[in-house]
Amino acid sequence: MVDSRYVFSAPRPASVAVAGNDAQRFAVHRVYCVAQNYAAHAREMNRDPQRELPAFFSKPADAVVAAAGVVPFPPTTTDFHHEVELVLALGDGGLHLEPEHARAAIWGYCVGLDLTRRDLQRQAKDARGPWDVSKAFDASAPVTSIRTRASIGELRSGRIWLAVNGALRQEADLSDMIWDPSEIIVQLSRYFRLVPGDLVFTGTPAGVGSLVPGDMVAAGVDGLDELEVRVGDRVHPVMHAC
Ligand code: MN
Repeated sequence: MVDSRYVFSAPRPASVAVAGNDAQRFAVHRVYCVAQNYAAHAREMNRDPQRELPAFFSKPADAVVAAAGVVPFPPTTTDFHHEVELVLALGDGGLHLEPEHARAAIWGYCVGLDLTRRDLQRQAKDARGPWDVSKAFDASAPVTSIRTRASIGELRSGRIWLAVNGALRQEADLSDMIWDPSEIIVQLSRYFRLVPGDLVFTGTPAGVGSLVPGDMVAAGVDGLDELEVRVGDRVHPVMHAC
């Protein structure tokens, strides 16, 4: 149906399935991500783990897709990386949240992949340039269905893992996070007014690595749905950044 208030038809909001609720979905407002939140991953990226301030970046809401079926191989990369992460789904928000309010703002959880064009990220880091083309591309944020905090309780610990073609690549415990979920929300709310519908990717453990077309990626977090996706064929010519 044409909505005459807009010169082009307005997009529907990106949304995520809610486990146990066939009638309603979680409409996505924004997608925030923590850059390094596990010490072993910081070290593999040649950074000293630090607790001073988390570094944040974001992805567009419509980068969120269901983690099922095929994940497209993105254009303009020769080093397409997986990062498994616990994702927080916010049901409340505000600016300058106190820790108790931040904890209560977590409405649910899902498992997400922070897919990354690592070659472009490396170039951006070398040039001290922005990360958008390395992180914020189409379908760069596949996620599982959301499990509500009311149904599963608060996730403070538990195994987080990712395997490619049956071989374990990433494995850690949520308690290994440098900043726990409520600390992340407290810090994020110093910069942005958080609202219901925001998703927060909480960082990836060590073991990130390359994906090639045809790879089968499985991943999970204790208490949440497991994901399994196949990496799609390369359908774009290989274009290198200038
Ligand atoms: Mn990440």
